[in-house]
Amino acid sequence: MMNIMQNRMDRVFFRYQEEFEKKALDVLRSGWYVLGREVRAFEEEFAGYTGGKYCVGLASGLDALWIAFRLLGIGKGDEVIVQGNTYIASVMGITMNGATPVFVEPDRYFGIDADKIEDKITDKTKAVLVVHLYGIATPMDKIAALCRKYKLKLVEDCAQSHGACYNGQMTGTFGDVGCFSFYPSKNLGGFGDGGAVVVGDEQLASEFRVFRNYGSEKRYYNKVVGANSRLDELQAGLLRVRLRHLDELTAERIRIAQRYSSGIRNPKIRLPQTPDHTKCVWHQYVIRCEERERLTAYLDEKEIGTIIHYPIPPHLSEAYRYLGHPEGFLPVTEHLARTVLSIPIYNGMTDEEQDYVIDALNEFQ
Ligand SMILES: *Cc1c(COP(=O)(O)O)cnc(C)c1O
Repeated sequence: MMNIMQNRMDRVFFRYQEEFEKKALDVLRSGWYVLGREVRAFEEEFAGYTGGKYCVGLASGLDALWIAFRLLGIGKGDEVIVQGNTYIASVMGITMNGATPVFVEPDRYFGIDADKIEDKITDKTKAVLVVHLYGIATPMDKIAALCRKYKLKLVEDCAQSHGACYNGQMTGTFGDVGCFSFYPSKNLGGFGDGGAVVVGDEQLASEFRVFRNYGSEKRYYNKVVGANSRLDELQAGLLRVRLRHLDELTAERIRIAQRYSSGIRNPKIRLPQTPDHTKCVWHQYVIRCEERERLTAYLDEKEIGTIIHYPIPPHLSEAYRYLGHPEGFLPVTEHLARTVLSIPIYNGMTDEEQDYVIDALNEFQ
């Protein structure tokens, strides 16, 4: 019997322990802890990594989302189109500004169904938010064309898709703003909270820089009512270390996903599929099973950890009861919430651990 956690973050730390510890000590000894040399260097390196023009470090992925909509001028009375099956933070980024989320069902790759967007566009629609959920890149050409046609802003939630590509172009660079989270469990995770936006427009980038620091460009001269959403030097420095290794970490996740996809054979279990022309980074490996509860209990018994991403879709959560959407409003999304299951995938997962998971799933009856 093996004990396998659904996710674990210690193995990445120990793999690069010396580099992380050296960087942490350097920052601690520098005497400068928020918005400084490390943040600037990380912003430059991460912009370069994504192929985007500018990166602005922020305090979290949620901040990246809500500040993006705020600076794009989206608020009360405006509608933003978003997929129903997402983490609730995507939706909070919209509603924190007083705007209304308009939900669209996902396609078979867990991404927003591009063919169902146009029907939802009204004269109140101001933006589309694409979530590259589970690290599966959403094909962007059709969606970008729709946004151009209707003059909508295009925002990408890349909290789960660092390094994922469509047609060789990285997610986060297709629209007006790419929003990233560096929460520890993300593919590019820090050792605390962190986030960033990637933007192509210089003016917009400088607005993010001003907004994140109480709306001031020059200390104590406040241009707008901003927020405190600063990235700290320790996180930025440690993220720089991890970024240097992100490609090898992503390759490792892809290999695990490939072993799962070729090894798991069970008619009761549906495996995740990826759209053509995408590079997916497998933030999660999400299977589907009509008998999920029984499968979870069975895996539990074998000490294999699983998580449901996500058991309650945002439109049915208590927080969004005020939107007034009844059960059955989004049947595809709601069916996913009843059947999806994220099985263990993490950097440093051994072949033995993977095989144990594969065998267990194949033996489920
Ligand atoms: C993690 C996550 C966020 C929020 O990021 P935080 O850094 O936790 O605020 C937003 N959207 C998605 C899809 C996420 O997975």
